[in-house]
Amino acid sequence: MPDFSCTICPFNCKCDREKTFGVCGLPNKFLVSHVQPHFYEEPMISGCGEDQTKGGSGGIFFTGCNGRCVFCQNYLISQREFWEKKTQKESSEKELFEICLDLIENKKCHNINFVTPTPYSHLLREFLIKYKDKIKVPIIWNSNGYERVETIKSLKGLVDVYLPDIKYFSNDLAIKFSKIPDYFNFASEAIKEMHSQVGFPRSGSGGMIEKGLIIRHLVLPENIEDSKKVLNWIKNTFNKKAHVSLMAQYYPVYKSKDFPEINRPLTKKEYANISDYFISLGFEDGLIQDLESSDQKYTPGFK
Ligand code: SF4
Repeated sequence: MPDFSCTICPFNCKCDREKTFGVCGLPNKFLVSHVQPHFYEEPMISGCGEDQTKGGSGGIFFTGCNGRCVFCQNYLISQREFWEKKTQKESSEKELFEICLDLIENKKCHNINFVTPTPYSHLLREFLIKYKDKIKVPIIWNSNGYERVETIKSLKGLVDVYLPDIKYFSNDLAIKFSKIPDYFNFASEAIKEMHSQVGFPRSGSGGMIEKGLIIRHLVLPENIEDSKKVLNWIKNTFNKKAHVSLMAQYYPVYKSKDFPEINRPLTKKEYANISDYFISLGFEDGLIQDLESSDQKYTPGFK
């Protein structure tokens, strides 16, 4: 068998993850940090019934990330300096399938939500080829958007719902806050491919999503003009039927304190500015999160 050479994401490390590490620092195995029904995703993903003991989105949080956002709310499991200090249990395909079954059959989750799946794309592709028919709920790809088109193409027919971020229009901001080069160039092309596979969202019983693309954008303090450029791109690329989730849940964590401009939550004035702009673009669908969501209670408690 030839050596594995990792070209999964735009970092294109070309390393053999069986023997060494690339930028993400991850081996060529599934590492799952956290599993839980998640009730604070978008309503068509988590459900919004008052009885939150039922449903929710079946969150499977993979260890690590190919991004290094200084404001990452999941930094305890996404950033190598934290996760590598803890013993990481490798999961086989069969164990991952059992995790899915538990979320679906015992926890009654509406879907399976792969969080930060990108560095595991090749493994998840093989997993889904084997198990997708046995997983009777939608598969959600919940990523940071920094992906290669070729990798997303390889998932065609295996993923039902794409839930990518588009974090920045400015590649300079992406370098500054996330250490990811050419972010917008890669994310924009990847999101176009995602849309070509699954289209705009379609919902089934109870209004829960069955298929489609939802584009998330987290608004950062002092970066409202960049957010407007992101929204313009979405409107101009997909038209006003695009389903955008405008997120206000930013709060300063991790290394945000090293960047005074983002070392605070959004102000009401900033969020009103971008919300009004969002509405002025005439999107027919989508969500504007309440500013009150900028609260750590919406982040799962990683231990
Ligand atoms: S998945 Fe990791 S090792 Fe592979 S190209 Fe991306 S950063 Fe490099």
